[in-house]
Amino acid sequence: MKTKKSIITLGEKDCLEMIEKARWKDGVFCPYCKSQEVVKNGWDDSDGVKVQKYMCKHCEKTFNVKTKTIFENSKIPLQKWFTMISLLGTNSILFLSEFLNIAYSNAYRMAKKIRSVISVEEGKRILHGDIELEIDEMYISSGQKGEKNLDRPPRKRGLRANRGRGTFEKDKPAIVTFVDRNTKETMFFVPEHLSGDYVIDKMGGHTDKGSKITTYTDEYKMYSKLESAGYQHKVVNHSFEYANGNIHINNCENRHSLLRPFLVIKRGVSKYNLQSYANLFQFFFNKRLQSHNPVEIVTQAINAIINFLYFLQCLKNQQFLKLFA
Ligand SMILES: [Zn+2]
Repeated sequence: MKTKKSIITLGEKDCLEMIEKARWKDGVFCPYCKSQEVVKNGWDDSDGVKVQKYMCKHCEKTFNVKTKTIFENSKIPLQKWFTMISLLGTNSILFLSEFLNIAYSNAYRMAKKIRSVISVEEGKRILHGDIELEIDEMYISSGQKGEKNLDRPPRKRGLRANRGRGTFEKDKPAIVTFVDRNTKETMFFVPEHLSGDYVIDKMGGHTDKGSKITTYTDEYKMYSKLESAGYQHKVVNHSFEYANGNIHINNCENRHSLLRPFLVIKRGVSKYNLQSYANLFQFFFNKRLQSHNPVEIVTQAINAIINFLYFLQCLKNQQFLKLFA
């Protein structure tokens, strides 16, 4: 059984089959014009592995299963890509480059592509049903590392867990955390300007319209907006209690204690990339709620990556693409 294999032991053919299943579950079609009138057209082995080539009878272009994916034109075997996808959630790029025996620059570029596509897919998550929503924020020191045009000298490296609230502008952005107590699903948002309205806007965008929502927060003033927006709102006052019966935000605090070390492993994330790193963590966290089988999780990551491509093709928004370049 393929699902019993570990990612490490997957061969190139297994990996190609996984992409095929994700991409062509309703049959092979042309990635350029979407036509299903395609014929087999020899083999492509330019990347060192034999891959079935096709020709589209409609637009006459040739393609294979990797065309227009992040794996296209990569000399790195898919087995290494897939291993990286499965380990990216818990390891540094330096470790991955050594573990996979590839140059750091290759590992860095691969990780960036994977993170970008998964982040976009994960950013579309919607909560459903009766939602018991805990909301809290954490703050993390995160400057402009990796940005080419610094508008001031770069700050000290690293993510320091300074106490107290900060702002995006002052290189200590907030990360707003949502946890649905019923499903344990978790979401993170990195606002440039944190406010009650921002939180309400995110709730509106990431919950089903018909859902009944009860919110739980601490006594921070901006959350009082939840009541005026019509949400049930229960408040735990942290100045004198951790919990009041079921009124607490312990699940959010648990997620913070997991996200913070994840970001530290990534060694000094720029505040402009913080959202996509948080989404990457969120993806693997939420997937593990459903399955601990790494092959299944990677399969879902492949699905996310493949789905993203159609989204990207439809979008063609240069400004947006720049964010993920
Ligand atoms: Zn075509």
